[in-house]
Amino acid sequence: MRGTNLLHPRLQAIAAELLEKCKTAGYAVAITSTLRTAAEQDELYKAGKSKAKGTDYQSGHQWGVAMDFCQNVKGANYPANSRPFWAGVGRLAETLGLRWGGTFKSPDRPHLEIAGLMPNGSTAALKRQYGTPEKFMATWGGADVPSPPPDGGTSPGGGGKGAARRTLSKGASGADVKEMQTLLIKAGIAMPKYGADGAFGTETLNAVKMFQTLKKLAVDGVCGPKTWEQLTVS
Ligand SMILES: [Zn+2]
Repeated sequence: MRGTNLLHPRLQAIAAELLEKCKTAGYAVAITSTLRTAAEQDELYKAGKSKAKGTDYQSGHQWGVAMDFCQNVKGANYPANSRPFWAGVGRLAETLGLRWGGTFKSPDRPHLEIAGLMPNGSTAALKRQYGTPEKFMATWGGADVPSPPPDGGTSPGGGGKGAARRTLSKGASGADVKEMQTLLIKAGIAMPKYGADGAFGTETLNAVKMFQTLKKLAVDGVCGPKTWEQLTVS
């Protein structure tokens, strides 16, 4: 699970509004799945849990424009016989401009996506316009987007703490690589295959790139002073 703060700004706002509406309507709802990496999406594809291939960027989850929900009730997160719950939340979501997966040909009841950004339920338009999720995310910064809090000397661990660290790139290994991986995971970037293993491979490269994209840093996949700083303040 990953925070809604990694979603498209519009979906973040909609998610907050939806949770509020659900509360009012008496539905206990939790958001379970938000942003996915290509590697994570491919794992789901291989496991038969999704029809969308990660490398083709077919899932709205990879573009930050989709999220999944469940019932926030222990032992009954996915109530099979509770159509009223799924449809009830689905209808509320639709009033907020989302498309509900329960209306799909093969229903995916926990799924919600921004209808306007996925015409016909497809990521093809996003792919055509932006190419990759990273490039799309780079456009998210704008006047309507809440800017991240300043990370000046007042924030714990800030103020150039990262400057003393070694710059890490693909092929590096060691305790500092492991520390960087641990911080990436803590920041919500999943590394499902190798985790924090202390070796900077392709999975770590993609994780660093995603982190840099989200933090609006130069996306070079190299963990230098600026990336370290963002990692250690977050
Ligand atoms: Zn979904």
